[in-house]
Amino acid sequence: MKTFKTLFMIGIATAMTLTACTNDNPLLQQSDLPYGAPDFSKIQPAHYLPAIETAIREQRENIDKIVKNTEDPTFDNTILAFEESGALLARVASVFFGVVEADKTPELAETEKKVMPMLTDLENEITFNRQLFERIRYVHDNEMLTGEKQKLTEEIYKKFVRSGALLPEDKMARMKEINLRISELQQQWGDQLPEATNDAAVWVETKEELAGLSEADIAQCQDDAKSRGGQSPYCIVIVNTTQQPVLASLDNRELRKRVFEASIHRADGTGNHNTFALVSEIARLRAEQAEIMGYKDYASYSLEKTMAKTTDNVMAFLENLIAAYKPKADAETKAIEEYARKTMGPDFELQPYDRFYYSAKMKKELLDVSDDEVKPYFNIDSVQQNGVFYAATRVYGITFKERKDIPTYHPDMKVFEVFDKDGKPLALFYSDYFRRPTKRGGAWMSEFAKQSRQRNQLPIIYNVCNSAKAPEGKPSLLTWDEVTTMFHEFGHALHGILSDCQYNMLSGTDVARDFVEMPSQFNESFAVIPEIFDHYAKHAETGQPMPADLKERMLKSINFQSAYALGENLAATCLDLAWHMLPSTEIPTAEQASNFEVEALKKVGLLDVQVPPRYSTSYFNHVWGSGYAAGYYSYLWTEVLAVNIADCFASRGALNPEVGQDFRDKILSRGNTGDLMQMFADFTGMEQPDASALLKARGL
Ligand SMILES: [Zn+2]
Repeated sequence: MKTFKTLFMIGIATAMTLTACTNDNPLLQQSDLPYGAPDFSKIQPAHYLPAIETAIREQRENIDKIVKNTEDPTFDNTILAFEESGALLARVASVFFGVVEADKTPELAETEKKVMPMLTDLENEITFNRQLFERIRYVHDNEMLTGEKQKLTEEIYKKFVRSGALLPEDKMARMKEINLRISELQQQWGDQLPEATNDAAVWVETKEELAGLSEADIAQCQDDAKSRGGQSPYCIVIVNTTQQPVLASLDNRELRKRVFEASIHRADGTGNHNTFALVSEIARLRAEQAEIMGYKDYASYSLEKTMAKTTDNVMAFLENLIAAYKPKADAETKAIEEYARKTMGPDFELQPYDRFYYSAKMKKELLDVSDDEVKPYFNIDSVQQNGVFYAATRVYGITFKERKDIPTYHPDMKVFEVFDKDGKPLALFYSDYFRRPTKRGGAWMSEFAKQSRQRNQLPIIYNVCNSAKAPEGKPSLLTWDEVTTMFHEFGHALHGILSDCQYNMLSGTDVARDFVEMPSQFNESFAVIPEIFDHYAKHAETGQPMPADLKERMLKSINFQSAYALGENLAATCLDLAWHMLPSTEIPTAEQASNFEVEALKKVGLLDVQVPPRYSTSYFNHVWGSGYAAGYYSYLWTEVLAVNIADCFASRGALNPEVGQDFRDKILSRGNTGDLMQMFADFTGMEQPDASALLKARGL
């Protein structure tokens, strides 16, 4: 994934803006290190709060200067001045949040609590600053601009307009009221859903019922029971998705059913928890906001700023995908049912809680490949240097040199200097791959500094993962998932490293949500190209390549019975859109919500008991609790873009440097400086993404 920061934290590092800072806080001084890298040998936790306070004050003063300027507004004195106004804050905040995510000590957690409301206040203050907006509007409406200047002006102007800057006072007041109410409701959602999921845990009396689980998993159930009050000896904890991983192993069908039902009914009012009232109100308020802004529904309002742009484009894309998917799903279900009937008899009817169980058995019978078997071939350093870096060298001509002299915030990190094909310095890249208690879960890319010609700043990019670190002297080994994750995150890193844009705000990965995952997903494709794979997948002790038979089984197992994963994603995507493509007067009430879900799935042909949505309405956190409303389709959309790009490479030579240069020129270097669909079309020669390619890529 790619982490997003708030819009106005757009950075600059000019020494002139630092005149007010005469103290010795290293965050407020221009770093002497190459690329202006943060000097972690000097930065202490106590430096962050005062630095952020100073930087916020500085941005306020800079905005004030723009507003009080008596000259007519121009690009330079307004747009550019605004773009640069939060430079110091961006620089300080980038370092702070980078460390907070990856090494959150109690002291930093305390600072974070103080910092967040300060940043929200500042953002609100800027968004609703009418005088500032009037100047921006004047430039937007009057100055003839082209290229990046025009794009920057347009982006800033639109951001204000989309927040309601053109609305009359009473409507603006209503927008603010709605924002406030939505954040209250989301707060309640954030309290209720974890509680509901927690309460859905399934209690188990005897070890015999848990047959099929490993001893380690059973011990985990025992620990979970203890930590939850111990009302029974064992407890199966429910995870956030509809399907529960434990269903692949549990032999006891009755228990499988209990687990599945606990999952799907966790928050739909059949038990103690019901989130439908929250869902209904959030959906209605969003629809109202869209109407105030002049759109027919929330999805139309939200999609305007994406690559897809309209609900028609997204629906056409999904309809193609659904049509191609359905026969594959039916065949997969039939194959699993027939397999189950071999042991359960000819009358056995496959239920959704049986699917993972029999699919896992089939997979073991046909392919039998375990993590333990493949991990010795994935030494973390080899994957990074002989795989991830090697692919980038082959395709883009860039090279890497480790810099042990540049300080990091943790000793497990490595720093590399990246050079262009002509030997010119291009970027700094930090990798922080090992898990530790102070790091949050998952994997991500972000930056300490974005590329900007305006600021004379080269990019300082980092990747963070959560792999296990081997004891001293042993090689750290990765699972296949972790290998592809490393390629994925480095795809984001390349989007930052190869950026060549004038303005900070438009550079690197600051692109729409339905585009940003494309370079990363595309970069995963290099992990399996034979010339790359054979170059990094070597036994950690013997140096031997992975045996052909093991390699074949492993690659086949990746896409084994993959229709399900596509179907659960499609169903969730369509639910998200169904809720956000209604006028405010037609939003279902809490009582109607369950039925609405069934009808919505039926309408798009995805009502299939065997393939329920990955998240059902009542526990769909992406759309009710976080920022993915009308945006869940982005996962499939960017995957299709990535597959189309990979096919384009394959047809011209997957490792052909000429194609690499073309991709770099037309997409990776360009940040958000052009129309994203046009960039895609320029490189691929296709007018629209071709969804059918996705099925082939998923082995369907
Ligand atoms: Zn990503």
